[in-house]
Amino acid sequence: MSSRRDEMLKEMGLWPRWRLRQGDAPLGGSGSAGDSPAAAPLAQGVHSRGYLPHLKAEGGVYFVTFRLANSLPGDVLRQLETLTPEQRSSQIDEHLDAGYGEAWLAVPEIANALRNALLHFDGSRYRLRAWVIMPNHVHLLIEPLGKHSLSEVLQGVKSVSAHEANRILGREGAFWQPESYDHLVRDSGDFDRCHEYVLQNPVKAGLVSAAHEYPFSSGFRGASSIAAKHVPGRAGGAPALRDDRRARIMRMDWSELKACVASCVDCELHARRNKTVFGVGDEQASWLFVGEGPGADEDAQGEPFVGQAGRLLDSMLAAIELKRGHDVYIGNIVKCRPPGNRNPQPQEALACEPYLQRQIELIQPALIVALGKVAAVNLLGREATIASLRGKVHEYRGTPLIVTYHPAYLLRSLPDKAKAWADLCFAVDTMRGLKERVTPTI
Ligand code: SF4
Repeated sequence: MSSRRDEMLKEMGLWPRWRLRQGDAPLGGSGSAGDSPAAAPLAQGVHSRGYLPHLKAEGGVYFVTFRLANSLPGDVLRQLETLTPEQRSSQIDEHLDAGYGEAWLAVPEIANALRNALLHFDGSRYRLRAWVIMPNHVHLLIEPLGKHSLSEVLQGVKSVSAHEANRILGREGAFWQPESYDHLVRDSGDFDRCHEYVLQNPVKAGLVSAAHEYPFSSGFRGASSIAAKHVPGRAGGAPALRDDRRARIMRMDWSELKACVASCVDCELHARRNKTVFGVGDEQASWLFVGEGPGADEDAQGEPFVGQAGRLLDSMLAAIELKRGHDVYIGNIVKCRPPGNRNPQPQEALACEPYLQRQIELIQPALIVALGKVAAVNLLGREATIASLRGKVHEYRGTPLIVTYHPAYLLRSLPDKAKAWADLCFAVDTMRGLKERVTPTI
């Protein structure tokens, strides 16, 4: 065993707690489960490898590895058979990164087929927290949802992708090795280590110099995995895919847009969210209020501005005779909660921006009110202070925009409430002027 790999796995708390899972896919790769052991729901029972029973009872998040049928040569397999289960599982990982076998997953069309299969039920049967498709194996950080067991989920993904891959290759027979390895994530520290391991695997294997460059991973930042989902065989065309994604989002109606956001994995923020926070209110509102991103309460409920800051926003609206949902729409720069309530990072805001742009196109508000600096600089596309932006009418793609403080900031800084009141009065005057321009009084 490579001592470096062994040490790394131990350091990450992943060794020797791997569990061998038999028979996630039929040998031919396209049949049904039949009576295979995989048909039994594996998210049940208490295991003897340090798993926490209460986590298993809730389903939990699993770090899973599965590999191509030919990814380990016969002599390697024979050698592995002489080892203890713990030695075997860690050596398997080492051999996988050595890239044995046909490496069919390096064929972009096949990797895309697998990505499509992975993403198809993301958000409905399971939640993918992170994933990477290596040339001869796959790592997932996955949370089965509802009554769906991990075995059922893996079997579905492997069967569908094997069928498609064999069609592309013009071959028959086993595509995936039947068994897989999984590890139940114990806590948030374990989650972070597994997440990092998944995203960094292509870097460790020497395929790219940075995780975001690897196209078949949830860490890829060159193009949208969602766009790729609908563009089979276009693995390398990052700019084209980026354009495709925006163009596709700009054609969506409300229901398509909501569904797309609900299953979005296009930036890191998807990994730790509980619920996406799409936006709420009158979809033909004159007023659009935009904050920066969901906090803990919003993440739990899936609605923007529902905590203390939300109550203050409701009071601010009431002060100018507005009410949430009545000629008012409320949204955010990013739809998923940034960890620890930090500000969204530029790449996260950029990834989420087409959704907000499409919302604004569909709403066609008369006036946008940016709540706080993060919302303002992202909507205006330039760095500036709140002080320099207040009291002026700006523009977002042709729609007038004014800037005021974020309600969460006002909760901490009471003296600025008076300035926020002045901003609201300015907003009311601006709106009145806009309406008079549209409907001139006689
Ligand atoms: S923040 Fe936006 S781009 Fe990022 S995962 Fe959530 S919905 Fe997708």
